[in-house]
Amino acid sequence: MSDLKTIFSLSGPFARTIPGYQPRSQQIQMAEKVDEAIQKRSLLMIEAGTGVGKTFAYLVPSLLSGKKTIISTGTKTLQDQLFERDAAMVCKTLGIPARIALLKGRSNYLCLYRLDRSLHAFRGSQTQLRKMMQLQKWADQTEDGDLSSVSLLGEKSVLWNKVTSNSENCLGQDCPAWESCFLVKARRRAQKADLVIVNHHLLFADFVLRNDGLGEVLPDADVFVLDEAHQLPETGSQFLGEIITTRQIRELCEDIEDELQSLKLQDTDLANFLHGLISRSDMVRDLEQVPEGTGPAKKLLNDVHAKPLLDELTEGLESLEKRVEQFRDASATMKRFHERCVETLRRLERFTGQEADGYVRWYEKRSRTLLLKMTPLNIGEHFQAFIQKQSSTWILTSATLTVSDSFDFIIQRLGMPAAVETCILGSPFNYRKQSLLYLPDSFPDPRHPGFYATLAEEARRLIEICRGRTFLLFTSFRALNEMESRLEGSVSYPLLVQGRASRSQILRAFRETDHAVLLGTLSFWEGVDVKGDSLSCVIIDKLPFTSPDDPVLEARLDHLKKSGKNPFMLYQVPSAAILLKQGVGRLIRDRKDRGIVMIADNRLSKARYGKVFLDTLPDMKVVHDMEVIRSFF
Ligand code: SF4
Repeated sequence: MSDLKTIFSLSGPFARTIPGYQPRSQQIQMAEKVDEAIQKRSLLMIEAGTGVGKTFAYLVPSLLSGKKTIISTGTKTLQDQLFERDAAMVCKTLGIPARIALLKGRSNYLCLYRLDRSLHAFRGSQTQLRKMMQLQKWADQTEDGDLSSVSLLGEKSVLWNKVTSNSENCLGQDCPAWESCFLVKARRRAQKADLVIVNHHLLFADFVLRNDGLGEVLPDADVFVLDEAHQLPETGSQFLGEIITTRQIRELCEDIEDELQSLKLQDTDLANFLHGLISRSDMVRDLEQVPEGTGPAKKLLNDVHAKPLLDELTEGLESLEKRVEQFRDASATMKRFHERCVETLRRLERFTGQEADGYVRWYEKRSRTLLLKMTPLNIGEHFQAFIQKQSSTWILTSATLTVSDSFDFIIQRLGMPAAVETCILGSPFNYRKQSLLYLPDSFPDPRHPGFYATLAEEARRLIEICRGRTFLLFTSFRALNEMESRLEGSVSYPLLVQGRASRSQILRAFRETDHAVLLGTLSFWEGVDVKGDSLSCVIIDKLPFTSPDDPVLEARLDHLKKSGKNPFMLYQVPSAAILLKQGVGRLIRDRKDRGIVMIADNRLSKARYGKVFLDTLPDMKVVHDMEVIRSFF
């Protein structure tokens, strides 16, 4: 019996410390696979079904190996859980004296320098000023400066930008607060640690810095474990491109003005110029012709109103760069600001210039900023280069990596080398006994105008049978709103609707309210874990195909089509199948859970590609008759 088998056995240390502990053969297999990959420095992709216990299965061999390990996961919440609960527990139970560090992106840490500057040249309301003073007080007490541990700033507060840094405005070693900087301290802890817990955003931010030869955020490591690896292609797309925002331009101008004031370099002409540039950037942002949402760059670049404004903005930045160059030697900060001017101009010129091969240019308009982005069509070659540079062990894991038992889609999207080893470990849950997949007969096509009326009727019946305890998961806000108005007042259980409160508040309310019914869109399809009786039914309206209006998706599909491939079968179906598996996966989270999943989209039964979806889902018994459901409970 290997050490790992002993550790995970009924007589092992976990069984002695975790109440109700049950050994799972899949967990032991996964731990052994991970251990082998660490010893061989190889590349492993491992799909571990819900309930395998993959977190312990990679933590135990990683920690026992004594090798420097970086674990990256999808969200900050999961990161906190790994740090505070799982890694700490494994170390304690196995008596491993490992140093563990948590490292987040820089926007999570209070920036002492920017807080100080913002307070000195404060622009804002009295309430905001009071908050800043409270933050200043908190800065003296906090150990780590992690802003998530203090509830002073709301999610959308405008103060975030004033009290945190980004790679452009951080002064690095020239910063007067360098020695007490929370970010620097967190990075030092990560350098010394045996196990560092990060998230995918930070992982890719590090990758971009290394790639551009601008340093690094993360320490080197022998082992990388990337959990929730199905999210890597999307997170990678966000980071491996370029972005410039009207907010960045405004902040750059404000920072320059503040610095000139603090250096007592009064230059009225430059001050007026900066105000003028801010107005120009605001005019681009506020263009009526550009509605909120996303669109391809050509919509801006061919627009008779937008194009001249973008040209003026480019000219303004050219002029700014020359003006600021004259003050470059006035201080280390001004030198940085000049570099920011050069970089901002370069990005804007790239966005407005010629098409760049392999990239899609697009914009996103939000309420307070306009983002101009260049995103790679395919992140595969970038990601592969990243992996090869590190010459470490790489383990990519998730409950949803395969489509119809094949890793081809994720391998292709991440450009994984041929040497990658793959492994599927099924869930230890008995889906055929614990659940039913209800595909109602004679439902209208999801594009039919009567679809949601029929769905509301069917949902009411199911909610009654399940006595609430239901998730309704939608593919769009429009669908959610329509169903909310149809169900409101016509079901006898409390409705919790996305948008009425924050995601975490809604989830907490669902757990604490007996027989609740939750209505949510895509952010509720994954990362939600409700064990036990509170959740007995999941209703999904449609197959979650990404909207073809998404300019990045549109460009990717177009690219595949031009290469003679079938974008629908090669991209849209597998992406949607993975997401559907996530949504369905909300139901059974424990051996004792029981329940129903209903998918109202009849393309699952009628379309040829429906089989791909069904083959990707857990092995559930398919039923078409509501009466079978009644007798199930
Ligand atoms: S080093 Fe950067 S992040 Fe740290 S306090 Fe200075 S500006 Fe802020």
